[in-house]
Amino acid sequence: MRTIHVPLGNRSYDIKIAPGLIDRLGRECARLKLAARCAIITDTNVGKRYAKAAFNSLATAGFSPALIIVQPGEAAKSLKTVQSCYDQLAGHRLERKSFIVALGGGVVGDLAGFLAATYLRGLAFVQVPTTLLAQVDSSVGGKVGVNLKAGKNLVGAFHQPKLVLCDLDTLKTLPDREFRAGLAEVIKYGIIYDGKLFAQLERNMPKLLECDSKALAVVVARCCEIKAEVVGQDETEKGLRAILNFGHTIGHAIENISGYGKFLHGEAISIGQVAAAKLSHAVLGLPERDVERIENLFRRAGLPVRTRLNSSKRQKLIAAMRLDKKVSDGEIKFVLGERIGRVAWSQHVPENQIHQVLDS
Ligand code: ADP
Ligand code: ZN
Repeated sequence: MRTIHVPLGNRSYDIKIAPGLIDRLGRECARLKLAARCAIITDTNVGKRYAKAAFNSLATAGFSPALIIVQPGEAAKSLKTVQSCYDQLAGHRLERKSFIVALGGGVVGDLAGFLAATYLRGLAFVQVPTTLLAQVDSSVGGKVGVNLKAGKNLVGAFHQPKLVLCDLDTLKTLPDREFRAGLAEVIKYGIIYDGKLFAQLERNMPKLLECDSKALAVVVARCCEIKAEVVGQDETEKGLRAILNFGHTIGHAIENISGYGKFLHGEAISIGQVAAAKLSHAVLGLPERDVERIENLFRRAGLPVRTRLNSSKRQKLIAAMRLDKKVSDGEIKFVLGERIGRVAWSQHVPENQIHQVLDS
């Protein structure tokens, strides 16, 4: 088992990575000295495969878990679902020392984390992420929240988990498209922080695509370590944490204008990162060879690297980028690469450069 420690003072916690961890959930929670009553939040897809194992593991360790099952998909990240979950938590009589287990992908993690941040003014929270995206990204960093009609993640909190268990076996049942989408965030860590990781991904992509546990363990652990390091230095995004948004300004805009649902998040940021690499070449002199390596790796992961846009769609894309939460004073700021493994944030890019890149 690999363990990554996330150092955040008295809110520090461990991320554990190995196959078969769901069966150890109860034992691991017992070490946290929490009350017996707890709630597992999951969705129907994940629940039918893993809820029983999680439930039994907790029960065997002396806990008394309630099981709360929501619909799969982004729609579950709503205040309506939050309301219904609050009622179920109250029905199960959760108390101040109780805890919530998030068993599922990013949607379940964000929803369950938000419930944990707010119910009884804050309960302890254990994450069992079951998608690659959630294991390397959304389960680390403490951002939790739900969507409004007006936009994604507009209501939320920072609420750190007490423990994260990444059970690599769960990735074997993940739909292939979801798995590949998760690889987009994995590749991102190589580009923004670790040239060696990037080279390792170039070598090991076939193994990763086969869901080889050994290859995955190394990679998931390194990604969590990078995210933890970045978040540890800048928990509330005053500076450095912005590098995690590489490819996301364009990626979010693509998700937005193509109607949520056409592209998975990972697919949109794959296109966004390839575009950001080209911008980096134009603005910061990222070597052309690095741009090629980046595009190739996304392709080999089976991810889209560009999307055709007519001029009206292109205008919409730029307008959507201006509406991004990360925009300050109406200026679109980019994270750009200097070389693979090193980026700079808060970079200004003239609008005509963006058009040129989208044309290429
Ligand atoms: P993300 O982590 O990408 O934000 P979601 O929480 O929306 O994703 O999960 C993506 C989809 O995959 C959902 O339909 C979810 O029910 C399903 N899912 C999550 N984990 C697994 C798994 N380990 N096996 C099978 N399906 C899963
Ligand atoms: Zn992302």
